[in-house]
Amino acid sequence: GPAGKARRESRARRARDLVASGPYGERFGGQLVLVTGAASGIGRATAFAFAESGARVVVVDRDAEGAARTAEMARLIGAPRAWAETVDVGDEEAMERLAEKVAAEYGTVDVLVNNAGIGLSGPFLDTTSEDWKKVLDVNLWGVIHGCRIFGGQMAARGQGGHIVNTASAAAYQPSRALPAYSTSKAAVLMLSECLRAELAGQGIGVSAICPGFVNTAITSTARFTGVSAEEEKRRRKRTARLYGLRNYPPEKVADAILRAVVRNEAVVPVTPEARGARLLSRFAPRT
Ligand code: NAD
Repeated sequence: GPAGKARRESRARRARDLVASGPYGERFGGQLVLVTGAASGIGRATAFAFAESGARVVVVDRDAEGAARTAEMARLIGAPRAWAETVDVGDEEAMERLAEKVAAEYGTVDVLVNNAGIGLSGPFLDTTSEDWKKVLDVNLWGVIHGCRIFGGQMAARGQGGHIVNTASAAAYQPSRALPAYSTSKAAVLMLSECLRAELAGQGIGVSAICPGFVNTAITSTARFTGVSAEEEKRRRKRTARLYGLRNYPPEKVADAILRAVVRNEAVVPVTPEARGARLLSRFAPRT
């Protein structure tokens, strides 16, 4: 109804205010951008930022409702077209079907953002094989499927393109709290670097984005599961104090993603602590 429409429009206005009005203008006009995990958080902000820069956007997530909302808002923000597709990125056949549909109905993807991911906390000795499988299926296999299938299409087309993988500062910063998650992200970082070398000759850029602690659903659930509300509040405060993180917004990560595409950057630490950790880490790429 009209109330719903007004609500959506005011949401879109707010989203537009958050999008980096950026140096990108219509930089992505005419391009087709596919973002996974775009029903919320960093993926949603990224879909909005590309929408604002004139791209047509394919919003992929296993959360159908959230994806549909992102696509609708992307159109309100200015994407000439935006579609929502409900897919589990860890499901290889579903990803193949998605690629066929996208190629047939929307065109070849110019920019792919493999962003879908799940958090999993807990010390290694408390982590079951099932836990490992769950996190690797999404965080690593989801990225592998995306890179192989859409990267393959880009290479076959022969007109270049760009792939962005959302890794994490956890990829190069060992922690007792997140061994499965960190391992999956370290693999994504290495995969990105290998693929970058392989595809450079074909004009296809590959970037790994490494955010530290960003204000999204993943950090409000994964890190604090299984504790009382009071304990969660206490830990949250402590974390915020420790890192001085309070409010790093996903929109700033989206901005870094667009910049990485425009400048063809290899590895991009995003938050202050991600940049700090990179300088200290034995595992961080120096490039
Ligand atoms: P989020 O939970 O808000 O967004 C993740 C999205 O991915 C959700 O919409 C979820 O439905 C979707 N998703 C999960 N599994 C999926 C699957 N199998 N198939 C399709 N979609 C799936 O969290 P976010 O912080 O925006 O996370 C985005 C990415 O950023 C993740 O890869 C995450 O690991 C990474 N990251 C986040 C932070 C942070 O502090 N928030 C830091 C470093 C890296």
